[in-house]
Amino acid sequence: MDTPAIKLSGLRKSFGAVEAVAGIDLEIADGEFFSMLGPSGSGKTTVLRMIAGFETPTAGTVALGGRDVTRLAPFERDVNTVFQDYALFPHMSVLENVEYGLKVRKVARKERRARALDALSSVRLEGFEARKPGAMSGGQRQRVALARALVNRPKVLLLDEPLGALDLKLREQMQVELKEIQRDVGITFVFVTHDQDEALTMSDRVAVFDDGRIAQVGTPEEVYEQPATPFVAGFVGTSNLLTGSVSEALVGKKGTYSIRPEKISLVADGGVPGTVAEVIYAGPVTRFVVDLDAGARVTVVEQNQRTSSAALTELRGKPVHLSWRSEHVIEIPSAKENIDAA
Ligand code: ADP
Ligand code: MG
Repeated sequence: MDTPAIKLSGLRKSFGAVEAVAGIDLEIADGEFFSMLGPSGSGKTTVLRMIAGFETPTAGTVALGGRDVTRLAPFERDVNTVFQDYALFPHMSVLENVEYGLKVRKVARKERRARALDALSSVRLEGFEARKPGAMSGGQRQRVALARALVNRPKVLLLDEPLGALDLKLREQMQVELKEIQRDVGITFVFVTHDQDEALTMSDRVAVFDDGRIAQVGTPEEVYEQPATPFVAGFVGTSNLLTGSVSEALVGKKGTYSIRPEKISLVADGGVPGTVAEVIYAGPVTRFVVDLDAGARVTVVEQNQRTSSAALTELRGKPVHLSWRSEHVIEIPSAKENIDAA
């Protein structure tokens, strides 16, 4: 890798007795769309604030573009942050909001105007220059906040749950737009979210946070298809974990194995026997909760291509057979190490 845009080494942060960040080593490449995914309280925001300089690490270093910035103030770092609550000035027009940072830094009026218009066009808000934030939708306000950060042309943009306040439809639309904007401007994005769909949809790579540590870093496909720990398997998507006597019966080996619901199908016979405990119709797909005779409860997802919902619902309480391909049964390595070590 060339000099990484961001390099975190042995990064830690404690608040009194709480160890919010418990030792993180990470390199993020120039121009990458990188997501930090994890449940609430797993340390994502604290890492972001240490990159931005709002928080001083208890131990470890932050380097930006190869330069150690650990002791530098936020304004001495070539990064900008976009927060969930936008923090726009309500009395200023959109254009004034976007120009504000440049004005503070005494950029000449003409250049200020040109750069602000350029930033507004990159977030597709031409024609909104005179609007006040109060007269805009949530998605539009979010884009103003983005323009206000982009206008500074930072090397790195930090985004802390920026779509969290939007409703689902708008959020999905903004996910696609944000990814396009990032590709256009070529800036390194570090995107914090607790929403696994969002992280998988937008990112070049994802770091999955678990209790102040990174459990796994990889492409969306890697963390979904090859989860490194049971936590990752359970947090990124729905997972069926086969352990103990169940894995011995079904996989033929000891250990912990993960199989995704969409990799399992209901078959007429010849597969693994079980009983349907629950049928959940969800439009394009139906989810079946099945109690295997071998002892585990698994979730199966079937596309609703041919079947009618009535026929599916009738399966509740009925015996079924499940089938999957052996290559879709993923051994979870660190769980195996834990079992071996115990
Ligand atoms: P996330 O963004 O993943 O939800 P945070 O980084 O905000 O997680 O928080 C990680 C942990 O650190 C939590 O237990 C949180 O309560 C604690 N924490 C964060 N900031 C502070 C603070 N300023 N003072 C005390 N505890 C904090
Ligand atoms: Mg947070």
